[in-house]
Amino acid sequence: NRRWLLESRPHGAPTADNFRLDTAEIPTPSDGQVLLRTVFLSLDPYMRGRMSDEPSYSAPVELGDVMVGGTVSRVEASKLDGYEEGDWVLGYSGWQDYALSDGTGLTNLGKNPEQPSWTLGVLGMPGFTAYMGLTDIGQPKEGETLVVAAATGPVGATVGQIGKIKGCRVVGIAGGAEKCRHAVETLGFDACIDHRAEDFAEQLKQACPKGIDVYYENVGGKVFDAVLPLLNTAARVPICGLVAGYNSTGLPDGPDRLPLLMGTMLKKRLRMQGFIINQDYGDRFDEFFNEMSGWVKAGKIHYREQMVDGLEQAPDTLIGLLEGKNFGKVVIRVADD
Ligand code: NDP
Repeated sequence: NRRWLLESRPHGAPTADNFRLDTAEIPTPSDGQVLLRTVFLSLDPYMRGRMSDEPSYSAPVELGDVMVGGTVSRVEASKLDGYEEGDWVLGYSGWQDYALSDGTGLTNLGKNPEQPSWTLGVLGMPGFTAYMGLTDIGQPKEGETLVVAAATGPVGATVGQIGKIKGCRVVGIAGGAEKCRHAVETLGFDACIDHRAEDFAEQLKQACPKGIDVYYENVGGKVFDAVLPLLNTAARVPICGLVAGYNSTGLPDGPDRLPLLMGTMLKKRLRMQGFIINQDYGDRFDEFFNEMSGWVKAGKIHYREQMVDGLEQAPDTLIGLLEGKNFGKVVIRVADD
């Protein structure tokens, strides 16, 4: 049983030294437990937060513990009612080949699910995040302008496509020409701006001639600085993530811009609200799942997955994800099914 353990806490960007590959015996299930064999492991930006012991909305991974992560597994052996050998299961086994579970937090996907790995993306936590943050907090209306960054990732791509379904003008922000082309040509966004361009702020302004009504915040940093002056009166800003700052070790240099933010919020009567998907909306998953499955089946929502082979690739792939090296939802294929 190969397992990636948290060896040390990063200061700034994580490095390969923060992780250690360990091998242990494959565990045996007791009564009331299942043994799961990981097939797919999801990598997500929140994992950077779990590597740190700063106060947050959930406890950190302890040093020497297995890295946390969402997984799709097969049942290898079961002593738990409702689970049979061979069933596909969505759960949180973490960065390892095998895990025991007593069923807490598991979803049985049955013997033959279509696209089981999609339950880690568009039909799972990231899709749910996009759906609830946009519809409940963002409240997009027909004809409004919606802006979303990290536009080709599982959250951003889904946000923008729901925005199109709701009749918005959708402007994405992504890193590089290839991602921007994908957002427009495949995802159907009206425009997509490269945040690495010298004149990024000016290009964003040109792409939003009527200002911004909903800004779905995934990144923060320079992107937010460019968005703030374009927000319209009564704009909504769901604060979903701030990935541009996850590797920061302190506040940025420069003038204190807090008065600018507060002044803009006051004068434009902005509504900004943070949310943590499972804590705020855990009871609404079925509503999301039904609507999203319908959209995916009808071809209204396109989904791009970046499959990386081998559990040994997990640390480098997570490090790359935080720098925008991924293109689409990152999934590690841990084993053949
Ligand atoms: P992505 O696959 O979109 O990966 C993160 C992306 O962020 C990178 O690919 C990169 O895209 C972009 N990025 C990284 N650094 C910067 C930067 N300095 N400036 C601008 N963009 C940057 O991740 P997800 O779709 O899984 O997650 C998107 C956001 O949603 C994250 O902030 C995540 O933490 C948050 N989230 C929040 C949840 C909640 O409950 N609140 C739940 C799930 C996710 P590019 O190359 O295009 O810039």
